[in-house]
Amino acid sequence: MSVNSEHRHRQASAQQPRPEDKARRTTPDIPRVTGYAPPVADVFTKKKRSQVMAAIRSRGNKATELKLVSILRAAGITGWRRHQPILGHPDFIFRRQRLAVFVDGCFWHGCCKHSRTPRSNQIYWRAKITRNMARDRAVPRLLRQRNWTPLRLWEHDLSSPQVVISKLAGLLARAPKGNPRT
Ligand SMILES: [Zn+2]
Repeated sequence: MSVNSEHRHRQASAQQPRPEDKARRTTPDIPRVTGYAPPVADVFTKKKRSQVMAAIRSRGNKATELKLVSILRAAGITGWRRHQPILGHPDFIFRRQRLAVFVDGCFWHGCCKHSRTPRSNQIYWRAKITRNMARDRAVPRLLRQRNWTPLRLWEHDLSSPQVVISKLAGLLARAPKGNPRT
């Protein structure tokens, strides 16, 4: 290979589009439609991405859950359990009242006040958040069909403990629902 042709070859490969440019060009703006799963731009490998996601998710949601734990304890509310194998994986349940509590992180669940799509990998993040929001709409319906009462709280609700407590107290004051074992 002559010096000249090697030079041309290098130039050609330098002009190859990066994967994210390609995805941005070929994927139209994602409409906010239930159940629409747009293609995901592959910047990380699959394995790396799930490691990153798991790390972010566990850190993000854990802090929010612990905040609710401290609100419940401070208010002397008992009878709750965390991480029980109930449909939709509620963060807290009150089994006797069949109350399933979800604390949704503002970012992950697309809170209209606080969720902003990060500048990089927008396609990926929007797809992820859109999927979460679709699930957030479907799960409460399914729980009601099973005689559970779903309660969704936003992460930002936790900065007003009084509001959270009064919501919970209202639901917990109701009569127990059916067999607590099912
Ligand atoms: Zn929020």
